Amino acid sequence: MLGGGLMVSGMAERLQAVVARMARACERVGRDPAGVRMVAVSKTHGPANVRAACELGVTVFGENRVQEARQKIPLCPGQAVWHLVGHLQTNKVRPALALFEMIHSVDSLKLLLALDVAADQAGRRLPVCLEVNVAGEASKFGLPPDQVAGVLRETAHLRRLDVVGLMAIPPVSVEEGATWIRLGTVLFGRRDSWKPARLPQGGETDGGDQ
Ligand SMILES: *Cc1c(COP(=O)(O)O)cnc(C)c1O
Repeated sequence: MLGGGLMVSGMAERLQAVVARMARACERVGRDPAGVRMVAVSKTHGPANVRAACELGVTVFGENRVQEARQKIPLCPGQAVWHLVGHLQTNKVRPALALFEMIHSVDSLKLLLALDVAADQAGRRLPVCLEVNVAGEASKFGLPPDQVAGVLRETAHLRRLDVVGLMAIPPVSVEEGATWIRLGTVLFGRRDSWKPARLPQGGETDGGDQ
Protein backbone atom coordinates (compact mmCIF):
# COMPACT_ATOMS: atom_id res chain seq x y z
CA MET A 1 0.00 0.00 0.00
CA LEU A 2 1.29 3.44 -0.92
CA GLY A 3 2.79 5.24 2.07
CA GLY A 4 2.05 2.31 4.36
CA GLY A 5 5.64 1.92 5.50
CA LEU A 6 5.96 5.60 6.34
CA MET A 7 2.74 5.60 8.30
CA VAL A 8 3.86 2.59 10.31
CA SER A 9 7.25 4.07 11.14
CA GLY A 10 5.69 7.34 12.29
CA MET A 11 3.32 5.42 14.49
CA ALA A 12 6.16 3.35 15.91
CA GLU A 13 7.89 6.52 17.08
CA ARG A 14 4.71 7.95 18.59
CA LEU A 15 3.99 4.69 20.37
CA GLN A 16 7.52 4.51 21.73
CA ALA A 17 7.25 8.08 23.03
CA VAL A 18 3.90 7.38 24.72
CA VAL A 19 5.12 4.19 26.36
CA ALA A 20 8.20 6.00 27.65
CA ARG A 21 6.04 8.83 29.02
CA MET A 22 3.75 6.39 30.80
CA ALA A 23 6.75 4.56 32.27
CA ARG A 24 8.24 7.82 33.58
CA ALA A 25 4.91 8.87 35.09
CA CYS A 26 4.60 5.51 36.84
CA GLU A 27 8.16 5.72 38.11
CA ARG A 28 7.52 9.17 39.61
CA VAL A 29 4.75 7.79 41.81
CA GLY A 30 6.14 4.31 42.37
CA ARG A 31 3.49 2.46 40.37
CA ASP A 32 4.02 -0.69 38.38
CA PRO A 33 3.68 0.28 34.69
CA ALA A 34 2.15 -3.16 34.09
CA GLY A 35 -0.91 -1.91 36.00
CA VAL A 36 -1.53 0.82 33.43
CA ARG A 37 -2.97 -0.34 30.14
CA MET A 38 -3.44 1.49 26.90
CA VAL A 39 -6.54 1.76 24.74
CA ALA A 40 -5.76 2.99 21.25
CA VAL A 41 -8.82 5.07 20.37
CA SER A 42 -9.19 4.40 16.65
CA LYS A 43 -12.41 6.32 15.98
CA THR A 44 -12.29 8.07 12.58
CA HIS A 45 -9.23 6.01 11.61
CA GLY A 46 -9.52 3.23 9.07
CA PRO A 47 -8.60 -0.46 9.29
CA ALA A 48 -5.14 0.20 7.79
CA ASN A 49 -4.18 2.27 10.84
CA VAL A 50 -5.54 -0.36 13.19
CA ARG A 51 -3.55 -3.01 11.36
CA ALA A 52 -0.40 -0.89 11.63
CA ALA A 53 -0.92 -0.49 15.38
CA CYS A 54 -1.54 -4.23 15.75
CA GLU A 55 1.75 -4.92 14.00
CA LEU A 56 3.46 -2.76 16.63
CA GLY A 57 1.95 -4.85 19.40
CA VAL A 58 -1.07 -2.72 20.30
CA THR A 59 -3.91 -5.06 21.23
CA VAL A 60 -6.73 -2.97 22.69
CA PHE A 61 -8.66 -0.49 20.56
CA GLY A 62 -11.39 1.96 21.50
CA GLU A 63 -14.35 3.13 19.45
CA ASN A 64 -16.99 5.63 20.44
CA ARG A 65 -19.83 4.64 18.10
CA VAL A 66 -21.46 1.27 17.75
CA GLN A 67 -22.22 1.87 14.10
CA GLU A 68 -18.66 2.78 13.13
CA ALA A 69 -17.31 -0.17 15.12
CA ARG A 70 -19.76 -2.59 13.55
CA GLN A 71 -18.43 -1.73 10.10
CA LYS A 72 -14.77 -1.38 11.00
CA ILE A 73 -14.08 -4.36 13.24
CA PRO A 74 -14.69 -7.04 10.59
CA LEU A 75 -12.05 -5.32 8.42
CA CYS A 76 -9.43 -5.34 11.21
CA PRO A 77 -7.05 -8.07 12.40
CA GLY A 78 -8.80 -10.71 14.48
CA GLN A 79 -6.42 -10.39 17.43
CA ALA A 80 -7.59 -6.83 18.16
CA VAL A 81 -9.70 -6.45 21.31
CA TRP A 82 -12.32 -3.71 21.28
CA HIS A 83 -13.59 -1.40 24.01
CA LEU A 84 -16.44 1.09 23.75
CA VAL A 85 -15.37 4.51 25.03
CA GLY A 86 -18.35 6.60 23.89
CA HIS A 87 -21.95 7.12 24.86
CA LEU A 88 -24.18 4.07 24.50
CA GLN A 89 -27.95 4.17 24.13
CA THR A 90 -29.83 1.45 25.95
CA ASN A 91 -31.37 0.21 22.68
CA LYS A 92 -27.84 -0.58 21.43
CA VAL A 93 -26.67 -2.81 24.27
CA ARG A 94 -27.02 -6.05 22.30
CA PRO A 95 -24.91 -5.02 19.31
CA ALA A 96 -22.47 -3.38 21.72
CA LEU A 97 -22.06 -6.64 23.63
CA ALA A 98 -21.41 -8.51 20.40
CA LEU A 99 -18.59 -6.10 19.51
CA PHE A 100 -16.93 -5.01 22.73
CA GLU A 101 -15.05 -6.76 25.52
CA MET A 102 -15.42 -3.81 27.85
CA ILE A 103 -17.47 -0.62 28.13
CA HIS A 104 -15.73 2.45 29.54
CA SER A 105 -18.64 4.83 29.36
CA VAL A 106 -21.60 3.63 31.44
CA ASP A 107 -23.30 6.88 32.34
CA SER A 108 -26.62 5.89 33.91
CA LEU A 109 -28.10 3.29 36.20
CA LYS A 110 -30.59 2.44 33.44
CA LEU A 111 -27.76 1.57 31.07
CA LEU A 112 -25.93 -0.39 33.75
CA LEU A 113 -29.01 -2.54 34.37
CA ALA A 114 -29.70 -3.01 30.65
CA LEU A 115 -26.12 -4.17 30.10
CA ASP A 116 -26.42 -6.61 33.00
CA VAL A 117 -29.55 -8.17 31.51
CA ALA A 118 -27.97 -8.39 28.04
CA ALA A 119 -24.72 -9.85 29.40
CA ASP A 120 -26.75 -12.42 31.32
CA GLN A 121 -28.64 -13.37 28.15
CA ALA A 122 -25.32 -13.63 26.30
CA GLY A 123 -23.93 -15.78 29.11
CA ARG A 124 -20.84 -13.66 29.66
CA ARG A 125 -19.31 -11.30 32.14
CA LEU A 126 -18.73 -7.70 31.16
CA PRO A 127 -16.19 -5.34 32.71
CA VAL A 128 -17.38 -1.74 32.72
CA CYS A 129 -16.33 1.66 33.99
CA LEU A 130 -18.74 4.28 35.23
CA GLU A 131 -18.30 7.53 33.38
CA VAL A 132 -18.22 10.49 35.71
CA ASN A 133 -18.86 13.97 34.43
CA VAL A 134 -16.13 16.03 36.04
CA ALA A 135 -16.35 18.70 33.35
CA GLY A 136 -19.79 19.95 34.39
CA GLU A 137 -21.72 21.64 31.61
CA ALA A 138 -18.84 21.22 29.17
CA SER A 139 -19.82 17.54 28.76
CA LYS A 140 -23.19 16.07 27.85
CA PHE A 141 -22.46 12.63 29.26
CA GLY A 142 -21.39 11.06 32.50
CA LEU A 143 -22.90 10.67 35.96
CA PRO A 144 -22.83 13.77 38.09
CA PRO A 145 -20.18 13.10 40.77
CA ASP A 146 -22.80 13.16 43.54
CA GLN A 147 -24.67 10.21 41.96
CA VAL A 148 -21.67 7.87 41.73
CA ALA A 149 -21.92 6.47 45.26
CA GLY A 150 -25.61 5.64 44.81
CA VAL A 151 -25.02 3.87 41.51
CA LEU A 152 -22.08 1.95 42.99
CA ARG A 153 -24.37 0.68 45.76
CA GLU A 154 -26.71 -0.73 43.09
CA THR A 155 -23.84 -2.67 41.51
CA ALA A 156 -24.00 -5.14 44.40
CA HIS A 157 -27.10 -6.63 42.71
CA LEU A 158 -25.56 -7.05 39.28
CA ARG A 159 -25.18 -10.60 38.04
CA ARG A 160 -22.80 -10.27 35.14
CA LEU A 161 -21.14 -6.86 35.33
CA ASP A 162 -17.83 -6.08 36.95
CA VAL A 163 -17.47 -2.39 37.68
CA VAL A 164 -13.72 -2.09 37.42
CA GLY A 165 -13.26 1.65 37.53
CA LEU A 166 -14.33 5.16 36.72
CA MET A 167 -13.86 7.04 33.49
CA ALA A 168 -13.52 10.78 33.58
CA ILE A 169 -13.14 13.26 30.74
CA PRO A 170 -10.85 15.16 31.00
CA PRO A 171 -8.97 12.05 32.08
CA VAL A 172 -7.31 11.79 35.43
CA SER A 173 -3.56 11.70 34.96
CA VAL A 174 -1.53 8.51 35.44
CA GLU A 175 -0.19 9.87 38.72
CA GLU A 176 -3.73 9.77 40.12
CA GLY A 177 -4.11 6.06 39.67
CA ALA A 178 -5.54 5.53 36.18
CA THR A 179 -5.50 1.91 35.06
CA TRP A 180 -6.62 2.44 31.47
CA ILE A 181 -5.15 5.26 29.40
CA ARG A 182 -7.13 6.16 26.29
CA LEU A 183 -4.94 7.52 23.53
CA GLY A 184 -6.11 8.72 20.16
CA THR A 185 -4.29 11.53 18.41
CA VAL A 186 -1.07 11.00 20.29
CA LEU A 187 -0.79 7.54 18.72
CA PHE A 188 -2.63 7.70 15.40
CA GLY A 189 -1.97 11.33 14.55
CA ARG A 190 -4.66 13.78 13.54
CA ARG A 191 -8.19 12.39 13.33
CA ASP A 192 -9.01 10.96 9.96
CA SER A 193 -12.31 10.84 8.12
CA TRP A 194 -12.79 7.11 7.69
CA LYS A 195 -16.46 6.36 7.20
CA PRO A 196 -18.15 3.05 6.71
CA ALA A 197 -18.84 2.49 3.04
CA ARG A 198 -22.59 2.42 3.61
CA LEU A 199 -25.07 2.61 6.44
CA PRO A 200 -26.40 -0.63 7.88
CA GLN A 201 -29.99 -1.62 7.13
CA GLY A 202 -32.41 1.05 8.15
CA GLY A 203 -29.63 3.60 8.28
CA GLU A 204 -30.16 4.23 11.96
CA THR A 205 -27.66 6.19 13.97
CA ASP A 206 -26.33 5.12 17.34
CA GLY A 207 -26.42 8.53 18.93
CA GLY A 208 -22.76 8.38 19.87
CA ASP A 209 -21.83 11.85 18.82
CA GLN A 210 -18.84 12.83 20.91
C1 LIG B 1 -11.53 10.32 21.12
C2 LIG B 1 -11.41 9.90 22.51
C3 LIG B 1 -10.15 9.80 23.13
C4 LIG B 1 -8.88 10.12 22.41
O1 LIG B 1 -8.82 11.47 22.20
P1 LIG B 1 -7.53 12.15 21.58
O2 LIG B 1 -7.73 13.59 21.85
O3 LIG B 1 -7.55 11.84 20.14
O4 LIG B 1 -6.36 11.56 22.26
C5 LIG B 1 -10.11 9.41 24.44
N1 LIG B 1 -11.24 9.08 25.13
C6 LIG B 1 -12.45 9.15 24.57
C7 LIG B 1 -13.63 8.84 25.39
C8 LIG B 1 -12.59 9.55 23.25
O5 LIG B 1 -13.81 9.62 22.70
